[in-house]
Amino acid sequence: MTITNRPTIAPDRGAALPAAVAAAERWLSAIDGRRVPAAGTAADAIARLGTSLPDSPADPADVVGRLAAAVEPGLMASGSGRFYGWVMGGSLPAALGADWLVSAWDQNAGMRDATPGVVAAEEIAGAWLLDLLGLPEAAAVGFTTGATTANTTALAAARHRVLASAGWDDAADGLAGAPRIRVLAGASRHGSVDLALRLLGLGAAELVDADAQGRLDPDDLRRRLAEGRGGPTIVCLQAGDVHSGAMDPFAAAIDVAHAAGAWVHVDGAFGLWAAVSARFAPLMRGLERADSWATDAHKTLNVPYDCGVAIVVDEPALRAAMGVRAAYLLTAGTADPYDHVPELSRRARGVPVWAALASLGRSGVVDLVDGLHRGARGIADGVLRIPGAEVLNDVVFTQVCVAFETDERTRAVFAALLDEGAVMPSASTWRGRAVIRFSVSSWRTDAVAVAETVAAVERAAAAVR
Ligand SMILES: *Cc1c(COP(=O)(O)O)cnc(C)c1O
Repeated sequence: MTITNRPTIAPDRGAALPAAVAAAERWLSAIDGRRVPAAGTAADAIARLGTSLPDSPADPADVVGRLAAAVEPGLMASGSGRFYGWVMGGSLPAALGADWLVSAWDQNAGMRDATPGVVAAEEIAGAWLLDLLGLPEAAAVGFTTGATTANTTALAAARHRVLASAGWDDAADGLAGAPRIRVLAGASRHGSVDLALRLLGLGAAELVDADAQGRLDPDDLRRRLAEGRGGPTIVCLQAGDVHSGAMDPFAAAIDVAHAAGAWVHVDGAFGLWAAVSARFAPLMRGLERADSWATDAHKTLNVPYDCGVAIVVDEPALRAAMGVRAAYLLTAGTADPYDHVPELSRRARGVPVWAALASLGRSGVVDLVDGLHRGARGIADGVLRIPGAEVLNDVVFTQVCVAFETDERTRAVFAALLDEGAVMPSASTWRGRAVIRFSVSSWRTDAVAVAETVAAVERAAAAVR
């Protein structure tokens, strides 16, 4: 037997990073001239990538270059100012640069004493978020993969606290035999709240009436809570209905829920950001009195995927739900990041949040959020001048639901828009009607993008009379 010690992977970095920079520059600088929806299919990309596992090593720069060339046709231009799909934000330049550094540094951000540098940046980012959003400064902040995980994290803390208050230790005794937790949520809640409740073994929420814009009715909440026998209760509110952008009436609903001893959680994946601007203050009144909040940085704040934020006032409850102890972990005197999120090992996804906030400053964050609302208003006003077009929602934040005379024509206009590719909204149904939904979520949606968007809808509408 011969023994060779020849390394099979080149010991230097080669040109992989410059290749990635070149591919990224090419992608980002072409975004405005490109179709917004993806042009290619997954099958096309699979054919270009090839399915056979290589037998031997390849040059890293070549791998990166081939990857970019193979997948680019199958990417949507979500960084375009004319992208309005779902509620997806773009990426601010500083946040993108910081995100690259997070990968290059490759730090595990779980333990304070192991990686104090990135933990420091995340902690400052967390404190800045609480300040900007007007939430209690002592609240615990955890950086999660997204709002679904942030909802789950915060509701796990809620589950622990309401059971502990009823004399039950869920950590020791689980849920079997526990007092039943009553969970109430607005009829227009986001599906990720249902998923979080399912993961936590809490079953389906009892639905509270919502008005035509999707706002929870605090009187119905009061009636339902009064009918109950008390006991462990969680109320889920929403900042930002995905169709209308509407905010639940926080002050009234939180008063009612707290009077019944309930924990109040707010899902504000994109809508929580309205709290940064005085313009939306009347809609956000009382928000700061909830017990926990979930939001995304990868939506309104325009940080790259993935980044959500769980915020919980009752830090001991969060730590009881999420904390881990093991002999080999470095345990700091104060809470470690891993005490506040489901992961132990994770990327330092709060660092791009720091960079986004450092680059925008307080006024820049307000301008970003106000600008998204201005873009939504501009699209709504422009679309309303198109014969046959209606805007179904009150445009209170960033969402615009457009419909034409019949569902058939609405769907045909949407198909024509995607076919042309100058803009990309998403299709949905709302209040029993097909809608074309524009979610203005990108820092790049300016007055020019809005005018181009309205013109694209005009062309599509004219094409499908
Ligand atoms: C997007 C969204 C979520 C889920 O967030 P993810 O980051 O996709 O996990 C939850 N609630 C609302 C209102 C949303 O818009």
